[in-house]
Amino acid sequence: MSQELHTRAEQLIAQERVEGIPPADQHWLRQHLAQCPSCSARATATEQALRSLRSLSVPFPKTLASRTQFRVRLRAQQLRAEPRWRMVWAACGVSWAFGAATAPYVWRGLEWAGHRMSLPNIIWELGFGLVGAARRGGRSHPDDRQRRTRQRVGLEAPTELS
Ligand SMILES: [Zn+2]
Repeated sequence: MSQELHTRAEQLIAQERVEGIPPADQHWLRQHLAQCPSCSARATATEQALRSLRSLSVPFPKTLASRTQFRVRLRAQQLRAEPRWRMVWAACGVSWAFGAATAPYVWRGLEWAGHRMSLPNIIWELGFGLVGAARRGGRSHPDDRQRRTRQRVGLEAPTELS
């Protein structure tokens, strides 16, 4: 690609931000940016620089301090009201992450054991499914898991699980 094209793109990038450019030039610039990583990076950098300049030039309203305090207080109240939900989501996340993280080790352990005992592949592969089901407490539906977690943290009365 010739240097002229990059120079034109550079000019258009600057011009577009300041005074705007005709649709034909916009089209050309979009196409060039799609093909040219260096001009595309320059356009992004220009955009970011302008954005930070704009945010700096915003005058601080006189009521900002009191509004900020109000928001902080509001947020603190919200947090006090919803710690249990945070626990629920944290517990679900940890539980799922643990299951996902340990699955490969269980798989490898069963593969190793299966080969030691020279079992056919299908046997230890089925074993993986059984271990997974056992770890999920025999219930694979995520709703059950969530409900049990909610019951554990006291959000929901225990139900009779069959
Ligand atoms: Zn270019």
